[in-house]
Amino acid sequence: MKRKLVMIGNGMAGVSFVEQLLKLNPHRYDITIIGAEPHPNYNRIMLSSVLAGDANMQDIVLNDWDWYRDNNILLHAGQTAAHIDTEKRTVTTDKGIAASYDDLVFATGSLPFMLPLPGADKEGVIAFRDIKDCETMIEASKNYRKAVVIGGGLLGLEAARGLLNLKMEVDVVHIFDNLMERQLDRTASKLLQAELERQGMNFLLEKQSDSIMGKKRVTGLKFKDGTHVDADLVVMAVGIKPNVQLAKDSGIEVNRGIVVDDYLQTSLPNVYAVGECAEHRGIAYGLVAPLYEQGAILAKKLAGVDSEGYQGSVVSTKLKVSGVNVFSAGRFNDEPGTKAVRVQDDIDGIYKKVVFDQGKVIGAVLFGDTGDSSRLFSLIRSGEDFAGREKEVLLGSSGGQMASTGDLVAAMSGDEIVCGCNGVTKDTILESITEKGCVSVGEIRACTKASGGCGGCKPLVEAILTSALGEDNVAAVKEGICGCTTLSRDEVVDAIKRMHLTTSKEVMHVLEWANPEGCTKCRPALNYYLGMVYPDEHEDELESRIVNERSHANIQKDGTFSVVPRIYGGVTTPADLKKIATVAEKYNVPLVKITGGQRIDLLGVKKEDLPGMWGDLDMPSGYAYGKALRTVKTCVGSTFCRFGTQDSIKMGIDLEKKFERLDTPHKVKLAVSGCPRNCAEATIKDLGVVAIDGGWEIYVAGNGGTRVRAADLLVKVKTEEEVLEWTGAYLQYYRETANWNERTSEWAQRVGLDTVKKALESKEDRDALCERIDKTLGLVKDPWKQIVENAELSKAFDALTAPAEAKV
Ligand SMILES: Cc1cc2nc3c(=O)[nH]c(=O)nc-3n(C[C@H](O)[C@H](O)[C@H](O)COP(=O)(O)OP(=O)(O)OC[C@H]3O[C@@H](n4cnc5c(N)ncnc54)[C@H](O)[C@@H]3O)c2cc1C
Ligand code: SF4
Repeated sequence: MKRKLVMIGNGMAGVSFVEQLLKLNPHRYDITIIGAEPHPNYNRIMLSSVLAGDANMQDIVLNDWDWYRDNNILLHAGQTAAHIDTEKRTVTTDKGIAASYDDLVFATGSLPFMLPLPGADKEGVIAFRDIKDCETMIEASKNYRKAVVIGGGLLGLEAARGLLNLKMEVDVVHIFDNLMERQLDRTASKLLQAELERQGMNFLLEKQSDSIMGKKRVTGLKFKDGTHVDADLVVMAVGIKPNVQLAKDSGIEVNRGIVVDDYLQTSLPNVYAVGECAEHRGIAYGLVAPLYEQGAILAKKLAGVDSEGYQGSVVSTKLKVSGVNVFSAGRFNDEPGTKAVRVQDDIDGIYKKVVFDQGKVIGAVLFGDTGDSSRLFSLIRSGEDFAGREKEVLLGSSGGQMASTGDLVAAMSGDEIVCGCNGVTKDTILESITEKGCVSVGEIRACTKASGGCGGCKPLVEAILTSALGEDNVAAVKEGICGCTTLSRDEVVDAIKRMHLTTSKEVMHVLEWANPEGCTKCRPALNYYLGMVYPDEHEDELESRIVNERSHANIQKDGTFSVVPRIYGGVTTPADLKKIATVAEKYNVPLVKITGGQRIDLLGVKKEDLPGMWGDLDMPSGYAYGKALRTVKTCVGSTFCRFGTQDSIKMGIDLEKKFERLDTPHKVKLAVSGCPRNCAEATIKDLGVVAIDGGWEIYVAGNGGTRVRAADLLVKVKTEEEVLEWTGAYLQYYRETANWNERTSEWAQRVGLDTVKKALESKEDRDALCERIDKTLGLVKDPWKQIVENAELSKAFDALTAPAEAKV
């Protein structure tokens, strides 16, 4: 019989441990995970990238809901383990669920340290630790102007950079007079400060916070020296403390963290701790690389595999602020008996320092150029002796030869972690090359996740790849649409057409995908390309679609869904409004919202209510979730407006009725304005139509999202029929030539507007494109109706949308 394993905490360290355990001994345990956050395991490190606008929440998910289901893991997400009965061996959650265990693992991470300042409980005072904090900051930036970050360490500076990107004014308050004092020496710290000031950050150094000002919401921060700064948002990034209370309450030995031995066992038998909550030989780590090392040891222990136990880790730091390259590792401060080699180049703003103790590299700081970071980190870990030739490490030997990265790769042990963000070892990378046939960094990333986090290890991954395959073979390899292939989008589509490939499996097999199952990037892309090329032959592969498309509704952050019925042109009727109101009441919809695209959004719908709601609404799907035509926004136009020159409402409704349900590479938004006053904001849409005297102007490739782009004029036409014809031809040309997941604005810039105009110039070409789009449009069906009318589909839908055993 299987043993029962319960893990408290669904974060990076814990889930990495579970992954390793499953690899070593997949059948040993029935696994239950209790996670307080209502999300699957995500990459906390990447929250800085989300805040800075370089990634979105979906990009940072490490293990999606399907992973838990596929591995038979019972996940109680959004529940906090509240009580442990160590006698009966049960854990009970705050929602009353009890789980019994044979082995229990604490992976509760850390809590952000909040300075106990008077007023710290005011609205707008937050930490930077999880998705919720990130969302609060993004939301605050929409309504407020001035942010203050307390803490000039790694986290504080990354938060500050993100807030600057969100167009807030940012002051960083720090108690010391040099930033990142625990990771940088004074020189690097001052260089960093100068660079961040250049980027727009303002520093208030040697300031001690006294109290938070304001009534309900924060209005400022007062300092001990009597001065103050205004603030609409205060982010405290002053440190973390291991989350140990539950362990302490359960009678487990706790110091700063939960005390563990070399096998991650706590003071109680069969109870373990891993990650930031654990304290090993007096150290509670706050970076992921050591936590992954701990996870690997614990996995061996619970899988029954011998190991020498965890011996502690050397850590390195990299700041994830764009335009600033900073790295440090080991003991980089000058200490008695140590020697340092320094290089400073004020022209290019580069500073490097390597510290030696008895000939061995014990620490390094790099600013401006961090290309040597992997090599130096390896040297610190390997303990290679450079006595008498220390300068070679930074400057090369008299012959100009530095120890090559290749030599260092050769010297690395197999279990050394290369990708700190994802805990990937050198051996795992080598295995992906030798056994899975990976021949590019992209493929290795797809196979192992290495270099998929902050990207700092990319040079080392490249070096391992080069050392395994040889320089020539690596240089010859180009990056493909994802890590599973080296083929570009055009090559894949061409092969689909040439070889008449009609399923993703066929494509992957015939084109020799490195990963035969594909990945989250290529699976939906292939499904789209196949549907675009063979609209009548290709059977939609639901499992390849992204979660919102599989659910035909938008999943919200609390796990509920939103339902947006189609309202053509934004024009509704009292009867439809009554119907929507009745449905909203019947299903206790907590929020009814008018969207920016003039639709009605019913938010907070339980997954099991979706088919019922769709049936009761008896309206077509508004496709608010899909890579498809979303909305056609219209102004009232000549129907009521005294300025209107054309009937924009009719034009909008005609467009929406014609092109609804069409699969496109990315979402497509349209708008029609009845005169050049442009009340429907048609010139920031993927395609916008603006009425003029005697005709219409068609604008394309606009975007009102994160990268705002004004649309370009494509053509002026006279009749409504011509608007429909040009729109059809334009959309089909986009469908046939864009990369999957590429908005029209990016696509048009990539291929060039002149190319687009040329492709649509002749009536003959437009007709051919329209013929192809009409063929596709003739095949589309409303998904809600199909599900409502088919019990089997309805059942399958339930299974697909429910994150399996996940309790959300
Ligand atoms: C913005 C940011 C940037 C970072 N950048 C870097 C970086 O560049 N490099 C680096 O190495 N590290 C970085 N870190 C640190 C890194 O994210 C952490 O070291 C790592 O996430 C710790 O993993 P963990 O599993 O121990 O804890 P966590 O990832 O915090 O996971 C613990 C989980 O347990 C849950 N939990 C706690 N108590 C309970 C309970 N009683 N019941 C149920 N669930 C519970 C918590 O809600 C949490 O989800 C960064 C952290 C942040 C916040
Ligand atoms: S765009 Fe012109 S027609 Fe339409 S509402 Fe505005 S002013 Fe009236």
